[in-house]
Order: sequence, then structure tokens, then C-alpha cells
Amino acid sequence: MISEHEVFVGFGSNLGDRRSFINQALQAVSELPTTSLSKLSSLYETVPVGYLEQGGFLNGVVRIQSLLTATDLLEQLLAIENRLGRVRKERWGPRTIDLDILFYGDNLIDEANLQVPHPEFGKRLFVLEPLCEIAPTWSHPRFDGTISKLLHQYQLKHPEEAAGRIVAAPPRFALNEVKDGIFY
Ligand code: ADP
Ligand code: MG
Repeated sequence: MISEHEVFVGFGSNLGDRRSFINQALQAVSELPTTSLSKLSSLYETVPVGYLEQGGFLNGVVRIQSLLTATDLLEQLLAIENRLGRVRKERWGPRTIDLDILFYGDNLIDEANLQVPHPEFGKRLFVLEPLCEIAPTWSHPRFDGTISKLLHQYQLKHPEEAAGRIVAAPPRFALNEVKDGIFY
């Protein structure tokens, strides 16, 4: 039997019409073969991490069901990034859209161009917060405890770090009924 994989994809944009890039990216992900969106977080306004001289981000997380292999999914996500005009210059630099595979079921992947769970996942509040919103009880064998616990631990460790500000709620109707790629 071929089984669907439960995958979490983190997304972010900090260039141009950020919301439009996110809407277009989500629409493109929903149109991938054998793939559907199953849950979407709110949209969070966050401050850049790493390379600080750049505009603020909009971030969120989407849960998808897919039959694609992790490698195929990564290839498709990178193709969507390229189509939406992403140009890679500096690492952690400005981007029209960033699509990261956070979890691919409970798989552990460690290849040259793909590591899952995403290596930065537990170190980024802008991922933990939206992920906790849609999957507080999710846990992965690599980590000790649920997402909700990981978020709580992160906040205890970094009390100074500002939480993301919610700027848009996810659609209240079924994701597969979203028309024209307007999710937010
Ligand atoms: P970041 O997302 O860390 O800011 P990039 O988006 O520029 O960095 O990603 C650079 C490379 O990271 C991609 O070309 C991809 O091969 C690799 N990569 C490794 N693991 C993952 C993952 N889980 N999800 C997305 N990209 C990944
Ligand atoms: Mg990325």
C-alpha cells in the first residue's frame, strides 16, 4: 500500500508583496501532484534572524498530505521558489519566498541537500510559534516532547525574544475550496 505522508512546510517572505508571494506559493503547493493542504497557521510578522539588515518577514506553517518522496517534494518546493523570483545571494538574506520541509512524517533524512527535521527548526521562534498553533501535540523521535513543550522551553531560554505578531488568520473554509490562491 502506498501511504500518504504528513508533512509540515514552513514558509516566509520578506521582499515585495509578501502576502501575495505566500498566497501564490501555497496555491502552487496545493497543485503539486498527489498533494493537498490540510492545515494552515496564521500569518506572523517577525523580525529577521541572522542577517539583520533586511525587511521584516511574514511567516507561517502549512501541513500537507502528499505521496511525493521527500526528495521530489524538495525539488518541487525549490522550483516554486525559483518561479516566484527567488534569487539566492547571501544565506538568510532577503527572499520573495522560502519554503522549508520541517518534518516529513517521523522520517529522519540526512542527505547533502536535504536534512529533515529541518536543522534550524528548534532554533527559530518564527517556525515554532506557527507550528505550535496547528500541531501542538505533534512529536518527532528526534526531539524530546511535543511541539508545545519545545516552544515553551524555547521561550524560557529566550525571554527577550519578541513573539511574532499575528497579522492574518487562516481561512475558515476548507483549504481545497480556496479559489484564486487567496489564503490570507
Ligand atoms: P534557509 O531556508 O536555511 O534560509 P535556503 O532556503 O537558502 O536556506 O536553503 C538552501 C538549501 O537548503 C536548499 O537548496 C536545500 O537543498 C537545503 N535544505 C536542506 N534541508 C532542507 C529542508 N528540510 N527544507 C528545505 N531546504 C533544505
Ligand atoms: Mg529554505
